[in-house]
Amino acid sequence: MTDLYRLLPEEMEELVMNLGYERYRADQILYPLYYKYPKSLSDIPQIPKALREKFTEEGYEIGSSNETHRVVSDDGNTTKLLLNLSENQAIETVLMQYPSSKVGGHPRSTICVSTQIGCAMGCVFCATGQMGFESNLKAEQIVSQVIHFAKLLQERGEHVTNLVFMGMGEPLANYDEMIRAIKILTHDRGFGLGQRHITVSTIGITSGIDKLAEENLQIGLAISLHAPNDDLRKKLVPTAGPNSVQEIIEAGRRYYKKTGRRVTFEYALMKGINDSPEIAEELAWLLQGNGSHVNIIPINPTAGDFRRPDEDSVLEFERILYNAGVNCTVRVEKGTEISAACGQLRTDIVG
Ligand code: SAH
Ligand code: SF4
Repeated sequence: MTDLYRLLPEEMEELVMNLGYERYRADQILYPLYYKYPKSLSDIPQIPKALREKFTEEGYEIGSSNETHRVVSDDGNTTKLLLNLSENQAIETVLMQYPSSKVGGHPRSTICVSTQIGCAMGCVFCATGQMGFESNLKAEQIVSQVIHFAKLLQERGEHVTNLVFMGMGEPLANYDEMIRAIKILTHDRGFGLGQRHITVSTIGITSGIDKLAEENLQIGLAISLHAPNDDLRKKLVPTAGPNSVQEIIEAGRRYYKKTGRRVTFEYALMKGINDSPEIAEELAWLLQGNGSHVNIIPINPTAGDFRRPDEDSVLEFERILYNAGVNCTVRVEKGTEISAACGQLRTDIVG
């Protein structure tokens, strides 16, 4: 079976023509797919019955996942969905809303999507990494995470405004399916989200960063650095071996040069591990004059014994970077009480 959400608009045209129909029939399917979010082919009355039957005969259908569980944070701003892909495969995907600064304006609605079930990178502080790798998601399974939330938001008169690839898994380790999903989601006859509203977060696979830079896409890049030197980084990211800190920073520089998009370095701050003033200085020295941005993420609790530094140490760390001229922000925490925050996603312990 192939989900119609897997196809790029051009491929949809090719398919309907191969099935003996005119090209314009593709738009009669694409429009409802990306504006009405049908659950099945029978929810699209515009398609001639014969074509619908042909789709079924040829193994095309709609929908790759079912919502099986929904949790909303106390303030209502974070929603986590558990989506079932098959009998024993599930993923988590999160919606984070930020009220509009304009009176009566729509909130910013950012979806955090997963690209893999589990992750092979094994970062010691990350719940997904501790699950190990299970499988890569297909493009349509990535797209379906966005569609579930688009539908939910549409019912409230709102819409998806931003997308971050910061859920379960390492996006650049599932490169082809990730890119296919991005192309569908940004295509003006697909989901139609602006490229600039998408950020891909990576643990720093430099070959993938270089490949992404060549795609001619205006998407943002976030690199999870977590340490200013290789010795410390290898303790936190055990698979970091092939890519040194220096190489990662150079790849970020090349990405910026090629795309003009500023690169953000993410830094999960852990008490007594990578939060000392000396380490902050080393990081500042490393990134100075780079035009890059550091996003400090005081660690969210997972099963390991990593602790979040107290507020003063976070501020001190930020101040050192700032004084050295390195742009930085501390990430606003969202959804920790429903385990929907960065690094807390895992699907091997939910019922
Ligand atoms: N694999 C990619 C994207 C998914 S992880 C990556 O690592 O960048 C998304 C972000 O969550 C990364 O910056 C990661 O370092 C961060 N993260 C992981 N575990 C965390 C935790 N326990 N607390 C806070 N952030 C965490
Ligand atoms: Fe994988 Fe990212 Fe978690 Fe590391 S932080 S284990 S790369 S999901």
